[in-house]
Amino acid sequence: MRLSQMLFVTLREDPAEAEIPSHKLLLRAGFIRRVGSGLYAYLPLMWRVLQKVSQIVRDEMNAAGAQECLLPQLQPSELWKESGRWDTYTQAEGIMFALTDRQDREVGLGPTHEEVITAIARDQIRTYRQLPQNLYQIQTKFRDEIRPRFGLMRGREFIMKDAYSFDADEAGMKHSYQKMHDAYHRILSRCGLAFRAVDADSGAIGGSGSQEFMVLADAGEDEVLYTEDGQYAANVEKAVSLPPDAIPSTFTTYEKLETPNTPTIASLSAFLNCSPTQIVKNVLYQVVYDNGTAVLVLVSIRGDQDVNEVKLQNELVKLATTYGGKTVIALEVPDAEAQQKWASQPLPLGYIAPDLSDSYIQPVKNLAPKFLRLVDQTVVELKNFVTGSNESGHHVVGANWDTQFPLPKAVVDVRKAIAGDRAIHNPSQTLKTARGIEIGHIFQLGTKYSIAMSATYTNEQGEEMPMVMGCYGIGVSRLAQAAVEQSYDKDGIIWPVAIAPYQAIVVIPNVTEATQVAAAEQLYKELNQAGIETLLDDRNERAGVKFKDADLVGIPFRIVTGRSLQQGKVEVVKRTNHEAQEIALTDVIATIKGWIAESGK
Ligand code: ATP
Ligand code: MG
Repeated sequence: MRLSQMLFVTLREDPAEAEIPSHKLLLRAGFIRRVGSGLYAYLPLMWRVLQKVSQIVRDEMNAAGAQECLLPQLQPSELWKESGRWDTYTQAEGIMFALTDRQDREVGLGPTHEEVITAIARDQIRTYRQLPQNLYQIQTKFRDEIRPRFGLMRGREFIMKDAYSFDADEAGMKHSYQKMHDAYHRILSRCGLAFRAVDADSGAIGGSGSQEFMVLADAGEDEVLYTEDGQYAANVEKAVSLPPDAIPSTFTTYEKLETPNTPTIASLSAFLNCSPTQIVKNVLYQVVYDNGTAVLVLVSIRGDQDVNEVKLQNELVKLATTYGGKTVIALEVPDAEAQQKWASQPLPLGYIAPDLSDSYIQPVKNLAPKFLRLVDQTVVELKNFVTGSNESGHHVVGANWDTQFPLPKAVVDVRKAIAGDRAIHNPSQTLKTARGIEIGHIFQLGTKYSIAMSATYTNEQGEEMPMVMGCYGIGVSRLAQAAVEQSYDKDGIIWPVAIAPYQAIVVIPNVTEATQVAAAEQLYKELNQAGIETLLDDRNERAGVKFKDADLVGIPFRIVTGRSLQQGKVEVVKRTNHEAQEIALTDVIATIKGWIAESGK
């Protein structure tokens, strides 16, 4: 492609709308244009990158035995009602764009395709002889994200590869999962990314185990906790660890003390001169289930620890049936306004005890009349602890479970693991923290969808069995931007060779010099003929402008037909380190070919 004929517009200044480097660079270098909130046009250079990423994904999916297909993006609500996700996705989480067609039928724009693929498997797979199967597609997905941001990182329309496996049993599913896991490793390696696979929360998709593939970058929205021995890595939402040991309490007798102005753990431990590990902190939440029932939740946790709300939500989902619901649609700390709706008297905030009386809850429609009391593992073993007294300005010390306070039956792990905690697999290892961009997520779904949607097959014994599923996503457009986030310098993007829009660019410093033009034209032709995707900068611009643009766009190898032509030479420059050398015209193709081959190793 000739730059003189291409829609090629670069910006000198950082666009105001962009916050992180990759977003700025993709806009500045003319790869993408914002069309609306979370909506981007992939311009010709970007489209080439996306096609390269897609091709790598496709190669590795095919090599792992998955079959490509293309499913409809408009999905009938009936399928989502069968799986039970219509209300959560269109209302509670509100992530799915939904509309009503002219025949008054409800349809959703696909945010993901478990329902559609399960309906297909139900129709087409009858017997164990047809299993296993793995189908995938590369397609635009739609999600009405609350906060679309960072360009392609969190769009409302984005390209995803999604794959779905169907097996006869759990062991088969684990095998299919492992194949996808390995394929993901190869995909990310081939794309030239530094990444880590981490244990992850399964979220609204459901199922048993899942892992995320994180591209490590400071701008990542996720936090990863890992150990240096390489044995453990998890998303902070999911991470587990050993908390520091509690320091034995210095209080030996139970008493209520006046503790004015100590509503926080820091102020209380300073006032009483005690360790936060001796304090039982009681945190109030309000959960709303999908049937409209709200429940007030009192979580008791050690004073030095915090609640992981993802873990808490998972515990509350498990308890949903107790309240006649199926899933959680909202979880929050009730603010003053929310408290007014149900509190019979002002709450002793900052001084709450684990036995806060249910009489604080006035009878209100759709509100459970009692607190749901959960205790985190960290407080179960505490002796002679400090906690609230249900009276402002007062705490109790020297308290014990089952003496002063009944130990609530529901013991859970809702503690947030943090960097510095000891690892469970080896307590001599401490957890380290890193930022990550979630590029892929693989799930062992099990039978959640196949049971809900009756996707069964007949086994060898003639019994009707639910298929065991897995699902596997890669954000193709997010991956492309993540590559930039991991690889740029002050001059612009440094594309990994495997996904660069073009591998080489021939730059003519001065288009009025016939020899420069002739040599460049010749090289441009030969490079392309040799299978090296090459751009020709034949614009009537100053050499400096052209060099700046080539750097900004991030083409791996630059060839300049300048003064050294007199000696039969051109300058070749590597984008990674600006390393320049003069080589004979006749060596250009072999040299660039060698560099490309080297980059793939
Ligand atoms: P996130 O936690 O970032 O919201 P998710 O867990 O909802 O993502 P999945 O449902 O696992 O995402 O989707 C598979 C992949 O699709 C993700 O790993 C990510 O790479 C990509 N992806 C998800 N949402 C977006 C988005 N809004 N924009 C771009 N890519 C996305
Ligand atoms: Mg995910």
